[in-house]
Amino acid sequence: MSTLETGINTAYDTAALQREDSGHFLHPFTDHKALAGMGARVMVRGDGIYVWDSEGKKILDGMSGLWCVNVGYGRKELAEAAYKQLLQLPFYNSFFNTANVPAIKLATAITQVAPEGFQHVFYTGSGSEGNDTVVRMVRRYWDIEGQPQRKVIISRHNAYHGSTVAGASLGGMQGMHEQGDLPIPNIVHIDQPYHFENGRDLPAEEYGLIAARKLEEKILELGPERVAAFIGEPVQGAGGVIIPPSTYWPEIQRIVDKYGILLVSDEVICGFGRLGHWFGAQRMGSRPDLITFAKGVTSGYIPMGGVLVGGRIARTLIDKGGDFNHGFTYSGHPVACVVALENLAILQRERLVEKVRDETGPYLKEKFEALAEHPLVGLAEACGLVAGLVLVKNKKPIETFDPNLGVGMVCRGHMFRNGMIMRAVGDRMIIAPPLVITRGQIDEMIALIRHCLDETYKDVKARGWI
Ligand SMILES: *Cc1c(COP(=O)(O)O)cnc(C)c1O
Repeated sequence: MSTLETGINTAYDTAALQREDSGHFLHPFTDHKALAGMGARVMVRGDGIYVWDSEGKKILDGMSGLWCVNVGYGRKELAEAAYKQLLQLPFYNSFFNTANVPAIKLATAITQVAPEGFQHVFYTGSGSEGNDTVVRMVRRYWDIEGQPQRKVIISRHNAYHGSTVAGASLGGMQGMHEQGDLPIPNIVHIDQPYHFENGRDLPAEEYGLIAARKLEEKILELGPERVAAFIGEPVQGAGGVIIPPSTYWPEIQRIVDKYGILLVSDEVICGFGRLGHWFGAQRMGSRPDLITFAKGVTSGYIPMGGVLVGGRIARTLIDKGGDFNHGFTYSGHPVACVVALENLAILQRERLVEKVRDETGPYLKEKFEALAEHPLVGLAEACGLVAGLVLVKNKKPIETFDPNLGVGMVCRGHMFRNGMIMRAVGDRMIIAPPLVITRGQIDEMIALIRHCLDETYKDVKARGWI
């Protein structure tokens, strides 16, 4: 692709950048030796739903960066907001009875779009720090309430809640727990509500109730007086876009209400419009006490996270709590806050949340779920602007691939080569495109996916895996 077409100088020395990269840059969640062997793909520019790499290749970013670039790449408004704030007041802390104007304004703005009952925000620098804050806040709450024995937080296998010590402990990723003696004490896990894997012989609604009642079984096993909270993503993201049956969250709500335990909704992915509502809990029919957010709050233009604190916890912390000995240098960072404010303004001005709910979400669902007709696809499902499909060896009856083959990675390779970013989680292929994606671009994306599934099918046959 020429400089003219992309509007940028594409004369990057990719090989030199890759050498420098593997020489000095330790990437997150990466086998560094393997990466050094193949060389990283170096991204250099983005515009709308597309990114370009150092070779000038244009790629449709079906993952919004990492579930975050919700308003798309190349937004001047966000850059200008940051630039102005950097000149006016690049930093001031919020410790020692101090505040800054953007942090004040953003807290108000977020609570205005939050579910009923949320009037307060605690800022962090990331989603992981948000979930660390959740652990501290939940335990602090029960201490103040005179029930310090309530320490246990229940989460789910295959959940992703970040990569700090507390975040990885809350998460249910076996590969993370194995490294670093995790989880920390008093965090336990129940099964995820994955209908396809754990209960596809049952109707989804029935399975949803069974999956939710694992929570009640665990509460009773532990002793209800020891349980502090339950945490879950409305739709599990990094776990592979696991969309729970419609009965799941209402039943979870019934159970946490029955035992008086706190409910935490980790909305680092689902918050700010991803599921066609401002927060995923609104779509799923739960009423959390705490909501973790990050990623989409700034559309990833600058790091920021936080926790929305509901009335029950806020009243206790504020009215009876005294000092809460927790916080971060960058809690309420003014530059991150102005970018978030401008990002919210874009979401509102362009009615992107409503657009996902009424237009692009239903359209993606129709087009994406039709991929289930493909001979390689055993299931295709979508919710708002997240979607996932399962690559299978045989459709009737369902026969899955040997996980050691890595069929998802093979498929991902075909996607990349054809200019499409689709992530592989085991044999699940997932997308979470920017919320600005149009119907026409959804058609383009589905055509690309279909073409790559065809290529994968041929490839897998040639390898003798089918
Ligand atoms: C990404 C993610 C996190 C962690 O956020 P970081 O900003 O990477 O620390 C936590 N929870 C969920 C659901 C996420 O998707």
